[in-house]
Amino acid sequence: MCEHHAAANESAKLVDVAKMDRRHLLRGLATGTLVLVAGCATNEVTGREQFIIIDESQLQQASLSAWAQMRQQVPQWRNAAAQRRLETVGNRIVQAAGRGGQSWEFVLFDSPDKNAFVLPGGQVGFYRGLYEISDRDDYLATVLGHEVGHVTGRHAAERYSREAAAQTALQVAGTQINSQLAMAALGLGAQVGLSLPFSREQEAEADIIGLQYMQRAGYDPRQSIPFWQRMQSGGGSRPPEFLSTHPDPDNRIQRLRNYINQQGWGPV
Ligand SMILES: [Zn+2]
Repeated sequence: MCEHHAAANESAKLVDVAKMDRRHLLRGLATGTLVLVAGCATNEVTGREQFIIIDESQLQQASLSAWAQMRQQVPQWRNAAAQRRLETVGNRIVQAAGRGGQSWEFVLFDSPDKNAFVLPGGQVGFYRGLYEISDRDDYLATVLGHEVGHVTGRHAAERYSREAAAQTALQVAGTQINSQLAMAALGLGAQVGLSLPFSREQEAEADIIGLQYMQRAGYDPRQSIPFWQRMQSGGGSRPPEFLSTHPDPDNRIQRLRNYINQQGWGPV
């Protein structure tokens, strides 16, 4: 059972929305007697049940437009040596993730931010400020493992789905149902919120998946500890993606330590 089943009203019927016509679907949503089960999927990397109501093709499409926009807004950092290094480590990580068959793009952006991001279509943005404190390949691998972990963990799709379902539930609770929004929530809408931040749980999951990819790719997962310590002490005006959802960075480092030791890759 995925989360949304568990949270559902007990009297609700479990139905496969794919088999329903639109009128029944909307009525079911409006009366609260319908629970979306079509969106439950087991993630092949984590084994975790996820609530996902958006097509892979929609995500790919949305990634392409978000990426084009990003590249227009932020100048690229033209540094051939840095680019080569980023791609070398990035390619080793995606191979280790078993995702070498899909296309990936690694771009350095000219910004002092200590940040990086990934889109579900495999576009990875890496900021100069982060690159400059990543003087070991193991450090680059820590970041890239984490970012690729967001993709294989299907975090953007999950985040979008939760948001869409929550919006729909709000509408349903009101007097009127917004059918357009309901359809959007079912993955039929065109709007995809790629800018939605990942949850703390997803960040933690990306950390662990990232360690696995690092280790498989021949990098040293223990080096993730000094990397995150460096990130913590680095400060900066805007918290990076990986720190902003972690109010307690010591906790993150402790979790990484525990996992590394559990796997026998330590001691750290
Ligand atoms: Zn992250």
